[in-house]
Amino acid sequence: MKLSTAGNLEPFGPTYENAQKQFLKAADIMELDPNIGNLLLWPQRVLEVHFPVVMDDGRVEIFKGYRVHHNTAKGPAKGGIRYHPDTNLDEVASLAFWMTWKCAILNLPYGGGKGGVRVDVTKLSEKELERLSRRFFSEIQMMVGPQKDIPAPDVNTNAKIMAWYMDTYSMNVGYTALGVVTGKPVDLGGSEGRTEATGRGVSIITNEVCKVIDKDIKKTRIAIQGFGNVGSYTAKILNEDYGAKIVAIADISGGIYNEDGIDIKDLIAYRDSNKGLIKGYPKAKSIPAEEVLELDVDILIPAALENAITEKNAKNIKAKVIVEAANGPTTPEAEDILLNKGVLIVPDILANVGGVTVSYFEWVQDLQVFFWDIDEIRSRLTKMMVKAFNEVYKTKEKYNTDMRTAAYILSISRVASAVKQRGYYPM
Ligand code: NAD
Repeated sequence: MKLSTAGNLEPFGPTYENAQKQFLKAADIMELDPNIGNLLLWPQRVLEVHFPVVMDDGRVEIFKGYRVHHNTAKGPAKGGIRYHPDTNLDEVASLAFWMTWKCAILNLPYGGGKGGVRVDVTKLSEKELERLSRRFFSEIQMMVGPQKDIPAPDVNTNAKIMAWYMDTYSMNVGYTALGVVTGKPVDLGGSEGRTEATGRGVSIITNEVCKVIDKDIKKTRIAIQGFGNVGSYTAKILNEDYGAKIVAIADISGGIYNEDGIDIKDLIAYRDSNKGLIKGYPKAKSIPAEEVLELDVDILIPAALENAITEKNAKNIKAKVIVEAANGPTTPEAEDILLNKGVLIVPDILANVGGVTVSYFEWVQDLQVFFWDIDEIRSRLTKMMVKAFNEVYKTKEKYNTDMRTAAYILSISRVASAVKQRGYYPM
């Protein structure tokens, strides 16, 4: 299928272009109706805002933020909001695009959305962070709502910020709207198990991969890039619940390596007392962060930011399996190199959907005002993730293709069916 240039449509930048390439590969194989394909290549709505925040010293600073809906054929938009100094429309639109396919892979009644604010949170006081969060959420309120678009945490946003968002929306509409965001604190309509959900999902998927490649997970050596929410829960659950050995970890401050396996609980405690960083951890050898990607391990789990694996380092990667916990960690050029080397890549749109799945559980609980316990959350999550993994794996076998393309084929077919049945209003 040819990428449509009708109406001078331009990709937002290189990340969005990469995302479109992934889509087009699958669209070709599945012979997708070009009318639907050309619609799904672009986001439905893009909102860019500039807004003032009164800083503690009385200055007024202007910040820039975005909220994007990629497609809402299957239901309200769903997707996180990130705070990062480099966040831009290219990144946010790509993340919204991927959210559509993630939700569809789980058959959730959602479309894809994403948001972001260009800000370095380390430079803000607590009060400045709160003012920024509340003003940003008011600015995008025209896009959000329990039946319209339900944001959630992402990089540098957390339960506390979700509580501010929920309160701000509730104050603006005049009633308490629990279902407007997910990832809230548990005593404020949040769900048990949400904080660990993405990491738990990555762990469930890693266990399923080990089954299909006939490898005992207890004998695997794993390297993880990123030790924030996703990386640290993935490491902890893989180690404690599945018995896997995590030998190397990197974060923004550097890398660490221990052949005998890193004591994850101990490392989390160290990180929490060391400004959130693993640098200087005494019970492992310090190595450059980039080296963690290239170690001789069985499984590599990128859990930091996008474009970590590029054509520059792909040829040096020795892991036979990559489980993409981060969004968009592998560029298409790097993926070609890795697939040619026979590496099995479990794509982000399958591997990291644990978070949105438990977010869905949270929203369902908020709407019915009836809450489930942690066992119920974990067992429902495991059931849905294992099912999604097996469906993608079967699609991969059926089309004799890679896991990412198979995941796209499956999710595109579901969204395409929704678009087709709803029709092109007005006819
Ligand atoms: P986070 O901010 O909690 O953690 C990010 C981690 O990456 C930190 O440890 C940071 O030090 C590290 N990092 C950043 N740049 C790095 C670099 N150049 N080298 C090595 N490490 C680096 O973010 P998170 O919530 O854990 O999200 C991580 C990834 O997972 C993102 O791509 C995010 O979009 C994706 N994701 C998150 C969720 C979620 O529920 N939090 C869900 C799905 C996908």
